[in-house]
Amino acid sequence: MTHRPGAARTNAYTFAPSPRASLPGMPPSPPRTDVLVVGGGPAGVALASEFARRGLRVRLVAPEEPRAFAPTYGAWLDELPGWAQACLEAVWTDVRVYMTQTPTPLLRPYALLDNAALLDALLCRAGKHLTWTVGTVRGAARAGEGWEVHGQAGERWWAAVVVDAGGHAGSLRRPRHPGGAALQTAYGVVAHFDSPPISPGSTVWMDYRAEHLPATDVRAAPTFLYAMHLGGTRYLVEETSLIARPAPSRALLRERLYARLRALGALPGEIEREEWVAFPMNAAAPLPGPWLAFGSAAGMVHPVSGFQVAGALSAAPEVADAVTGALVASGPEAAVWAGWSALWPPERRAARELALLGVDALLALPGNMLPDFFRAFFGLPASEWRAFLSHGAGAGDLARTMLRVFAAAKQGVRLPLARAALRQPGVSGRGLLAVARRSDRTGGGPNG
Ligand SMILES: Cc1cc2nc3c(=O)[nH]c(=O)nc-3n(C[C@H](O)[C@H](O)[C@H](O)COP(=O)(O)OP(=O)(O)OC[C@H]3O[C@@H](n4cnc5c(N)ncnc54)[C@H](O)[C@@H]3O)c2cc1C
Repeated sequence: MTHRPGAARTNAYTFAPSPRASLPGMPPSPPRTDVLVVGGGPAGVALASEFARRGLRVRLVAPEEPRAFAPTYGAWLDELPGWAQACLEAVWTDVRVYMTQTPTPLLRPYALLDNAALLDALLCRAGKHLTWTVGTVRGAARAGEGWEVHGQAGERWWAAVVVDAGGHAGSLRRPRHPGGAALQTAYGVVAHFDSPPISPGSTVWMDYRAEHLPATDVRAAPTFLYAMHLGGTRYLVEETSLIARPAPSRALLRERLYARLRALGALPGEIEREEWVAFPMNAAAPLPGPWLAFGSAAGMVHPVSGFQVAGALSAAPEVADAVTGALVASGPEAAVWAGWSALWPPERRAARELALLGVDALLALPGNMLPDFFRAFFGLPASEWRAFLSHGAGAGDLARTMLRVFAAAKQGVRLPLARAALRQPGVSGRGLLAVARRSDRTGGGPNG
């Protein structure tokens, strides 16, 4: 049986405001809030805002004043909560993947977030209960029922519950990456083009065509184009390595991007900005701990797509409900446990284990076979590949899709996939079948 911290508590948590003054000679007591969130990325701000909406007093600590998130965030439109659908720079209905010269239309609208609007909306939704504090957290120590959190400049803050939303490396606890971090990397530019690099009006989600490269290079380091038409002569073009350990360098990806654009006869003119993407894809579900991790610090990055933002925006209300309810009813320790349980129910933990198996299979696949793999993947009924890429996918969804991709893939792709699966202790084709069948009988996970 798992120990459930705070389960036996019956006394309610009540917010204790900061004492007005300290005893002479004593350092002043740190200012108090119910929750302290470390990190001002989309995940941290989303969760902080949901806590504040529920009436908790929240401090968010980030090294910078609030300012629009820097990366280009894309998301499937149907995965964004309704309010966030008002924070978009663009939406495409023409969304394609290329594994051969003939594109496969994905028939699923894809959105580019307007990061300034997203941040404004989150802060506006948070209202007056959220305090944004500029600082860098360096640690937290138990103090009474909660935590005294320490800033690098000597600051001290007290909070009943501490959330680590410090990004891919975490701020208080490092995420675990089984077998070492496997990175998604990309080099891209937003630029003006005289000759369009992709079909105007479209988004190319994945273009693995590589006739312009020597086959040995593709086999060693497969990369694809991710591109969006941003209107007029503006395009985002990014040469992307889906997942690799070790990852290709920025210089190689830049070289690849220009080789591709040259082959397309579409070199960029004026460049507005460059983008460098590098983050781990294979974080394991975090174990329960004294602090709650959220966002990429909690391994919420999808291990096959690398997406996280829509998942964090959607999960934040559920987690905030769980934490707030337990905090009021049973106290801080129970609140952290409740937040972790809401984020990682057994079904989602099982799904994460399976997805990490998928990561290993992708890492084991010779690069030149990735187009065949994804041709089989996107050849599945849309409901299946969508479920696989969704943040709420259950283990049954994943197992079913993995088996169907395996069945539909060419022989050359199946062998390395099977070898990767067999290398995993406790995993077998029979095991996958059992998970898929069980979920068929029970109606599956959230997407079943
Ligand atoms: C260039 C790029 C493009 C991406 N594109 C997409 C995309 O299109 N769609 C998608 O869904 N995902 C995308 N991702 C993946 C992922 O969603 C993003 O990395 C996202 O920013 C993660 O959000 P987060 O809030 O968890 O972490 P972050 O955005 O990394 O935010 C972490 C915050 O914590 C702060 N912090 C860290 N340590 C401390 C500390 N000790 N004290 C105080 N503050 C601290 C950091 O300064 C930062 O503000 C992309 C990633 C990158 C790098």
